[in-house]
This record gives sequence, C-alpha cells and structure tokens, in this order.
Amino acid sequence: METDANSNVGHKGRFYLTKHIWVPQEPIENLNLKMSDMILRRMPKLPLSGEDAIRVFPVLTELKKSHDKIKADLQYLLSHHDEIPALHEVHPRDLYVHGRAWRTFLLKIWGHEITENTAAVPDTYAAISRIPGVHTALFSILAGRAEIEPHRGSAAGVIRFHYPLIVPKEPEKCWIEIGGHHFFWTEGEPLVFDDTREHWVKNQTDETRVVLIIDFNADMPFPVNLFTGLRYNLIRRSAEVKEQVQALYRRDLAPQLAFLDAIRAALPEDGILVEDLTQVGYVARIAFAVHGPRQYISSGYQGTLGHAYPSALGAKVACPDRAVVALAGDGGFMYNVQELATAVQHGINVVAIVFNDGAYGNVKRMQREFYGNRVIASDLVNPDFVRLADSFGAFARSADDPDGLRDALEQALARDAPALIEVKVGEFPDPWQHIVLPRVRG
Ligand SMILES: [Mg+2]
Repeated sequence: METDANSNVGHKGRFYLTKHIWVPQEPIENLNLKMSDMILRRMPKLPLSGEDAIRVFPVLTELKKSHDKIKADLQYLLSHHDEIPALHEVHPRDLYVHGRAWRTFLLKIWGHEITENTAAVPDTYAAISRIPGVHTALFSILAGRAEIEPHRGSAAGVIRFHYPLIVPKEPEKCWIEIGGHHFFWTEGEPLVFDDTREHWVKNQTDETRVVLIIDFNADMPFPVNLFTGLRYNLIRRSAEVKEQVQALYRRDLAPQLAFLDAIRAALPEDGILVEDLTQVGYVARIAFAVHGPRQYISSGYQGTLGHAYPSALGAKVACPDRAVVALAGDGGFMYNVQELATAVQHGINVVAIVFNDGAYGNVKRMQREFYGNRVIASDLVNPDFVRLADSFGAFARSADDPDGLRDALEQALARDAPALIEVKVGEFPDPWQHIVLPRVRG
C-alpha cells in the first residue's frame, strides 16, 4: 500500500453541533465507542451474507428486484467516473485513500437526500426509497490495488448493507475483513454487517469493485434506542453533515457561491432574500443559508421572470423592520424597472442587486449548448443601471466582485433607503446539473 501523510486519517466520527457550539469530541467519542460495544452485543448476529442476509432482512429483496436497473444507473455513473469525488474530497476528515482510488457517489447522508446525485440514478434511488429507515446511501467505487485501511464506524446501532454490483473476476482476491474474518463480494448477494465492528478492505486485483452501501438504524431495544436515536439526530443536524452537503455545491458553483456568501455576510440573520430567475438566484435556491421561516422568497413553480423586485417591495411593506434584498439579472430587472419609482415614492427601502452580464445569460448558454450555437435575441442593450437608479432618487452603487458587493450592500443597508447595486459579471458555470433531473439514459 502506498503510504501518504494525511493528518485526517482515522478521524472519522467527530462531530459538532452547530457552527458555534463545539462539543469536546474525544470524551464523547470514547463514551460512544463504549456504548457501541454494549450495543454490538445486542445486535443480530452479523455479518450475514447472501440468503442468510435476506432471511433476516427480507426488505433487501427490493434491491435484488431492481438489480438490472441499478446496474444501468451504475453504467451511466461510470461513464462519468472522473467526475465522481473521492470520499475525502466531500468529507475531508473521513477515511483517506491515496490517489482518488476510492470514489463515493452519495445519494443520502444522515437522512439528507443529495438531490443532484439521486437525480442521476433515479431507479437506484427509487429502490432505496422502498427500504424503510435508510439514512445513508452511496455507491462505493474502489479501484484495483486500492486499500481502505482498518477502521470502525462510530455510529452505534447502524446496520450496513453492501449490495455488490461489480466484482473482480477472482472475487476472493478482493475482500473485506470484518471482526477478523474475510468476506468477499458476489454480484447481487447482499452482505450485512455492523459498521462499528472494525473492518478493512483490500482489492488485490487490477479490476474495479463497486458496491452500493446502505445504512439504516437497527431496531434497538429500550433504552439503547434512546441513545442511538439521539446520536442519529445530533449527527443529522450537525454543522459537519450540512457542510458535507454544501461541499458538493462548492465544488462546481464557486463563482455564484462567492456572491451568495458576500450577501449572506452583509444581510442580517433575519433578513429576507427574494430571488429572481437569474444565475446567482438559481444557486441561491439550493445553497443560500436561511436561518428561519419566511426569510427566502422565490417565484416557486411559476418561474416568473422579473418578479423579485416588486415581490421584495411587498415583503418590505409587510416587514418594515427587516432588511430585504432582491436578486435579479439585468434582463429580469428590466421587466419591472418602473417599480424603482414606487420604492422612492413610498420610501420602501429594498436593496435590488442586479447581476449584469448584458444578456439573458442563462438563455444564451442554452442556445449555445443545446441549439448548435444559434444565439438569437438573448443579448441585451441595457441602461446604465447606476445612473438610472440615481435618476429615480435611489441610492446606487456598482461592484465588480464579491468583496465589492459586500461593501456596497453593507452601505445600502446602513443607508436604509431604496437602493440598487449593479454587479458586472461574466459567464457563470452551469448550475442546472444540480437543480433539474438530467436524462439518465436514452
Ligand atoms: Mg443577464
């Protein structure tokens, strides 16, 4: 095995409750492992494989029934193999395997569905959804000659299924050692074990091995179920898990997220954000942190271009003591530009942020990518937004980057006046892979 100095190895299982409250981790982890040992003694006799596993967990037949469909989903995934991250790239403190030799495609983590991933493998997710109590699910893709060093999971009372999808031609040369015994995978034959028992994986062939890993909470007796339930809920709500979900977005949508971070930093926690149909707005839907109800307004399924600014004026009239920000693109803002007069006339102190790329940028990208670069009617001739807003009597600023936006937004909110900030932007990476269902096959 190649050795690689990585300080994150072996730190699995650490958690903290919120961004602000750190729990001393080592004593908690020690208590947890002690509890886990106690719980292990009460678990069904594991590991179990093949027919034995199905006898004890008949619900596993749901995976077998969908075997061909899951394999088809997997083929689609493997056609994008290089884009699938290694576990340590999405969860930096988790197990590290050198050279991205262990790829993980997460569908669900501690009860949070990773929708942009499940959309790519809908039949697999449908099969998983028929199994009650599943809280974590992922494709685990281990390259030939790779090894996952001995480790034990920290989540006591969790039962782990391995559903093998691709196994090397000599299966006994690619094994998992659980509690000192060797097991190997057979396609379509589930393997069930307790994740808290030490296990070690080694692929001694040149071929890739793929299993679908599914975790669900074991049905534990009282009072053990109080402990496992509490632990599950703490982890599920922990900032660490939420950050793991966010990391997937940050990988692909960094430019939009930089602007959203700037807005979040300047907008008070109880502020209201209203998004229009615009590049930064699309990403805001999935990645803008909202701290309470009624703090985020979108056009919903109507997808009404231009609604953000007038909607924001309504929100501000309803909640005059809270900061209200409208996000719009240049094209969308011009749909209701006349409402600047309403804001000034009635003293409705909304800040409009206009991301100006001189185009219906999203439409233009689609014309280029899906319609053979036949660009038509998507370039715009715009007014000078700063001079325009100024002429209405609003406070107006421009910004060129996230820092500039944050400064301008802080100024506008401090001014407490109708305001417009123009942000000059170029092209953004395509967010749609994370939002809408991609076509999987056909
Ligand atoms: Mg635009």
